[in-house]
Amino acid sequence: MMGIDLERADRGLADDLRIVPTGAARGLSQLVLRTDIAGMPLEWIDYKEAARLYHQEQVAYTCGSPLFELYGGVNALTGRRTVLEINSIVATVGHTGNPGNTRHDYVPPLNNQTLFRRDAYLCMYCSLRFPSRELSRDHIRPFSQGGLDVWTNVVTACRRCNNQKASRTPEQAKMQLIAVPFTPTYAEYIFLKGRRVLADQMQYLLAHFPRSSPLHDRIQRWLG
Ligand SMILES: [Zn+2]
Repeated sequence: MMGIDLERADRGLADDLRIVPTGAARGLSQLVLRTDIAGMPLEWIDYKEAARLYHQEQVAYTCGSPLFELYGGVNALTGRRTVLEINSIVATVGHTGNPGNTRHDYVPPLNNQTLFRRDAYLCMYCSLRFPSRELSRDHIRPFSQGGLDVWTNVVTACRRCNNQKASRTPEQAKMQLIAVPFTPTYAEYIFLKGRRVLADQMQYLLAHFPRSSPLHDRIQRWLG
């Protein structure tokens, strides 16, 4: 299992996705995956927030691999410097900060970045891959025909296909969708929001996707 550099994909380097092996976190910008006590993915946090959770003894257990070693003050009794080791995945107690994330009817906010990632930067009409700046949000059933701005009515489309389709349904425009649009679950949404997702974080998140999730296949093709 490989990790994935989603920011790189956003910049239009989708065909050259950087493989991010576990333990390859360079610098402190690598984000940590926080889960609840049951292991449900919650959010991405930076090393400072992770350190705070460790200090407040809110970290119940860790998964993944060690990412950072933060050096603290010298212990007056032992004369030794305290070292805090922060893992790539931390399970925490206490409030989640994301009410509703475990509800089955949770609907993540819709924006172009996560939409394009959901569709693996592929135009859902011509099936070609494009960088973000050449993609657009197509409303399958257009606004003018009562279509809504919701996950199940939007797909990633290249400019050319979007123009060609215009204010028509795919049937009216005689254009075919290559995949059915879906609303990401919370775990899928956390993945889609990621920046550099490390291999172990990726594996962890994938295990929380529905078995039927189209993302399993898309991620494999993405990395393949
Ligand atoms: Zn297209």
